[in-house]
Parts: sequence; structure tokens; C-alpha cells
Amino acid sequence: MQKETHVFQTEVKQLLQLMIHALYSNKEIFLRELVSNASDALDKLRFEMVSDDQLSEGESALKIQLEFDEAAKTITLRDNGTGMTRDEVIENIGTIANSGTKKFLEKLTGDQAKDSHLIGQFGVGFYSAFIVADQVTLRTRKAGLAVDQAVEWQSKGDGEFTLETIEKPTKGTEIVLQLKDGMDEFLSAYRLKNIITTYSDHISFPIEMLEEEPVASADTANAEETEQQAPKTALVWKQINKATALWTQPKSEISDEDYANFYQTLSHDFEKPLATLHNKVEGTSEYTSLLYVPAKAPFDLFDRDRRYGLKLYVKRVFIMDDAEHLMPNYLRFVRGVIDSNDLPLNVSREILQSNHVVDKIRSASVKRILDHLVKLAKDEDSTVYQGFWDAFGQVMKEGIIEDYANREKLAGLMRFSSTHSGDAKQMVSLSDYVGRMKDGQQAIYYLIADSHAAALGSPHLEGLRKKGIEVLLLSDRIDEWLVAHLTEFEGKSLKSINQGDIAELADEEAPVTEEEQQARTSLVEKLQQALGDKVADVKVTHRLTDSPACVVAQEGAMTPHMIRLMEQMGQ
Ligand code: ADP
Ligand code: MG
Repeated sequence: MQKETHVFQTEVKQLLQLMIHALYSNKEIFLRELVSNASDALDKLRFEMVSDDQLSEGESALKIQLEFDEAAKTITLRDNGTGMTRDEVIENIGTIANSGTKKFLEKLTGDQAKDSHLIGQFGVGFYSAFIVADQVTLRTRKAGLAVDQAVEWQSKGDGEFTLETIEKPTKGTEIVLQLKDGMDEFLSAYRLKNIITTYSDHISFPIEMLEEEPVASADTANAEETEQQAPKTALVWKQINKATALWTQPKSEISDEDYANFYQTLSHDFEKPLATLHNKVEGTSEYTSLLYVPAKAPFDLFDRDRRYGLKLYVKRVFIMDDAEHLMPNYLRFVRGVIDSNDLPLNVSREILQSNHVVDKIRSASVKRILDHLVKLAKDEDSTVYQGFWDAFGQVMKEGIIEDYANREKLAGLMRFSSTHSGDAKQMVSLSDYVGRMKDGQQAIYYLIADSHAAALGSPHLEGLRKKGIEVLLLSDRIDEWLVAHLTEFEGKSLKSINQGDIAELADEEAPVTEEEQQARTSLVEKLQQALGDKVADVKVTHRLTDSPACVVAQEGAMTPHMIRLMEQMGQ
């Protein structure tokens, strides 16, 4: 087929420009991204070969090769993985299928430091090649297709790309980067090797580079002649990475840095993870889990169609990304790998959904994460847990609703703001609160409002404030659902102060004269008449000290906040 010119989607163009600028100080990550794609392609092929061994095309060793040409100023990365069809090329690298892209672009601030962090979370992928290259050529052939069914894709990263059908004897993908001026630092074996060992040492396939090696002269008769000359050398492919999947290594042989680098490869994050949990489980069920809790929330944590979950391997063979059944929704920020010895290689998402092996792995993994968080929360240095809560508190609250089995543990992990300090930052745990409860205090009191300021200024607090009773101030959208599911903690019930009566305030009743009593009764009657059936009842209250009146929901009724929420959802 003739050479065709295509235009990138607008978002791709925008993203390209932004990325090139924002990632300038991290430019070597292009190699991490391309190697990670090559490794994915090899993983895919290895998986496909399980059911069709013809796809190997006679090449049993799956590998990645890296080469550079000083004179031409090019870097070439090659894999003999699954490759792409023409349609796949258009689909995968002409568009960004991810619907989060637009939202992502809206989030960008123009501040380089902040944006580069966002881009890291977004997953920079293939386009990161344009950070260092002003022209990228990709040649690829899908494993199993005829030699003349390969495709060449080429772009200068300026909004267009060309496509051409070519011949390619070997399956897989080759990417040639024509380096920009000023990128000569990458035309060095030392530098490239260094980047590979930093970011991609534990990619589970060999990554090879050419190295000069002395060759013994075959012609011994001429030994005398050649003695005077420099020893002959030849270029041979040498493996430069460890090529062992990190999680299969014993813990004692893995450094913190190894763990952090693997996390960064997995998550495209620039930061180190907050927690790393590596476990090998043997016995009735056999698997290895390597789980990471990130330090910062990804920008799309609340996107409905965000993919989440762990990478699933079966006996070291990659099966799928984003295996969402391996993590509950509220722990969607957890990244990592599960490698099971018990699941079949042909396991599908549907099977994962109701599989007892998966259920076991999942509940054990959740337990590991929650136990670790409990430990962090108890730590002397509570700033670490506080940082976690600031990033993920909102999603952790979903856990109370979603994860009944772990509700108690989760309740202990919750943090709220309260009248104790009045601070908007959520720092008060339920045990802090219980520890400060007054003698004879009946319940853990909370107030729900649309904002922290509204909660803090609420007249409902007046009576309790006078008595020195602490009230939790809840203003996250999810809080109303949270308290609907979390009705008690350590035997103390949670009770809303704008709903029903408050026992602690009943004894406030000072002796009233007959006259006062009458005045009250007639005021109440007048108000009842005036308000008619807009209200269920009008009562004399002791919950106020300064404000003349407030609206209270009936015990068990929906609060105004809840009613608004339902309205917003179109109920
Ligand atoms: P991601 O890897 O997160 O999906 P990328 O931008 O890195 O995003 O890559 C986009 C897609 O292009 C990949 O999902 C894959 O389908 C395809 N792709 C990229 N590099 C290769 C490769 N070397 N071999 C086969 N497919 C590739
Ligand atoms: Mg990628």
C-alpha cells in the first residue's frame, strides 16, 4: 500500500507538546517507557504462544535489543514480541483511547514541576520518544502475519504521521529515534547501559547491547604477521540487565532502590512508593505478591472509567494488566503484581470474577495492606500516615461502605476534622475521640454539612460546645454514606447532632416559671400555625445558646444534605 499521511487527534498533539516541555529534566525516561512497551509485547507473545506455538516463527528466545549509531545520531530499540497490525498501529499510537486524556489536559497548570508529576501519573508511554527525538520511525509486524504485511509508521511529532506497508522478515517491533540536537549524551554505551540498569534491570526479558569482544585469529599460520597488529575485535550482543522478574527474587537480595525502580516502571510515577509489601505464600495456595502503596494520589483517582487493579501473572507468564478483581475498588490506588501458581494460563476476566483462588489472594492482599496502614497509623511519626490520609482518605472512606468484613479495621483508620481543634484538616481518629469523651457521654457525635466552614459555624454545635462535648465535622461528599454504614465504634454509637434529640442536653432544663412555660407554649403554637405542614414539629430546645432557632431532622429521616445529594443524582 502507498504511503498515507494521517493527522493525530488534537489531544495527542497537545499532549506531545506538553510532555516534551514538562519532562525535559527527566528525559531519560523515554527509554524506560519504550523498554516497558517492548517487554509488554514480549509478555503478550509468550502468552499467545501458549495456545499457538507457530507464533514463535522459529525464534524461541524472546529479547530486546538496543543499539545506537553515533554518526547517524540514532538510537534503535528492537523486540521480537507480538508486534502490531496496521489497524493496531493506528489505534494504539495515533489516538489516545484513554478517556482520561482530556481531563488530564484540563488538570495541567503550566507549572513545570507540578505538570511533570501529573504526566508521570498519566503514564507517558510511547510518545515520550519525542522528548529526545525529532523523528520517530516504528517498523512492526504482527507475529503470524506474512513478511510483506509489516507497517512503517513515521512522525516528527508535529501533528502528523505517515503509514506505509513494508516488508519485515522478523516479527515484532523496531523503533528508530532520530535524536534532536543536544541529545548526544544518549549516543553512549555507558549512558544507555546506566539508564537500563536503573529503570529496567528487572524487566523479565534480556536486554542486549552490542559490545566489542576480542576474537582469536582463526589463521594460526599467520600468527606472526598479526602479532604486530592490534587484536581483532568483533561486535557481539551482550545481555546488560538482570532479566529476572523482581518479585521472584528473595527479599534479602532486593534493595530498597530495586523495589522503588520497579515501582516506577510499573506505575510511571516519579516518586518513591509510600509502602512496599512483598510476600511469597506457600501451602494450599501458592503465589507471590508485590504490592505498592503510592505516596501521592493519581490525578484520575475519581474517574469512573479509570482502570485499576494489579498485574496478574501465572507461573511467571504475564496474563493481564489492571486485573480489577484482585483489589477492591476502594484500594484502586494500590499498584503491583500477583504471580499465581494455581490459576490456569487461560484464565479470563470472567473467571477471575468468581474464583476462590482469586478471592483468597484478594482478601489476603487487602489484609496485608490494611495491617500495614494500621502500623503506619500507630507509628510515632504520624506524619507519614497523615500524608497517606491526605492523599487517599476520601477513597478509604469508600471502604467502610464497600468492605464489610474489614469495617472495624477501616474505622480505626478513618480521620476526621472535629470541634476539638476546628482545623479543616482531617486528623482526628475515632479512638482519639473516644479517649476525649466526657463522663456519661452517650455517643460519638457528628455534624454533616456541605463544607467545613458551614459545619464549624453551625448553630447545632452551640449547646454541645458549651458542655465541652466534641463533635466530628463531616463535609466530604461521601460522609453521609459513611455514617449510614458506620453506626458504631468500640461499642459507642455514632449519632448525628442535627437529627433527633441529644441526651446530654436534656438536663439543661432550668426551673421555669408558669409564665415562662405559657409564653413558650404559645410561641410554639404560633410557629406551628405559621409553618403549617412545612415542618413535622416545633419544639423548645437546649441545643442552642446564641441562635434563636434551628432546623432538625427527625430521627431516621433524611438530612437536608442527603436530600440535596439525592437531587443531584436525579432522584
Ligand atoms: P501503554 O503502554 O500504557 O498502553 P504506550 O503509549 O506506552 O501506552 O503504548 C501504547 C500502545 O502501543 C501499547 O498499549 C501497545 O498496544 C502499543 N505498543 C507500543 N509499543 C509496542 C511494541 N514495542 N510492540 C507492540 N505494541 C506496542
Ligand atoms: Mg507503555
